[in-house]
Amino acid sequence: YTQKEKYSALILGLDNAGKTTYLEQIKTRFKKDYTGLNLNKITTTVGLNIGDIQIAGVELNFWDLGGQQELQSLWDKYYAESHAVIFVIDSSDRERMEESKQALEKVVSSDALAGVPLLLLANKQDLEGCLTAEEVKEIFSTVSPSVGQRDCLFRGVSALKGTGVDQGIHWLVERHP
Ligand code: GDP
Repeated sequence: YTQKEKYSALILGLDNAGKTTYLEQIKTRFKKDYTGLNLNKITTTVGLNIGDIQIAGVELNFWDLGGQQELQSLWDKYYAESHAVIFVIDSSDRERMEESKQALEKVVSSDALAGVPLLLLANKQDLEGCLTAEEVKEIFSTVSPSVGQRDCLFRGVSALKGTGVDQGIHWLVERHP
């Protein structure tokens, strides 16, 4: 993927996982003077949200794609342009863990994304009764090739509160080609 010009990260995951909230959180934290949306008023992504931040001289572009079933088929149109994938998981939604895992399985098996760094986020860690990051990691550990088999960082985060968000972004920046 050396011919890709900008450092672009795709934000993927099921609808309601927290992708838009995560992107807003990133912009709020890393964009100077960004006032942005009220983080509590975000609704699920249907189209596409785009964000760009400058960090340590690197320009990072983020593409937050809709996660509904019928929109997932559009994800791979963006793969060829992407240097990294951020996959967001709702740790509080036990019922959709399997669906989320299958969505990730499809993503990581794509040839266009071979070798691309993967940031796996167990989101909504602020919610009481959610699965712990360790539990989510265990569930997703069978997805191949991801944790341990490619350049992959797994983190528990709260996109809403901003907890754990910065480390993932710094990790991505370090992977700038
Ligand atoms: P998207 O469909 O993946 O873009 O998800 P959204 O960003 O629209 O979030 C879906 C819902 O989950 C919204 O009501 C958000 O406020 C909520 N949400 C997102 N991230 C978090 C989080 O870290 N903690 C909590 N408690 N709620 C979150």
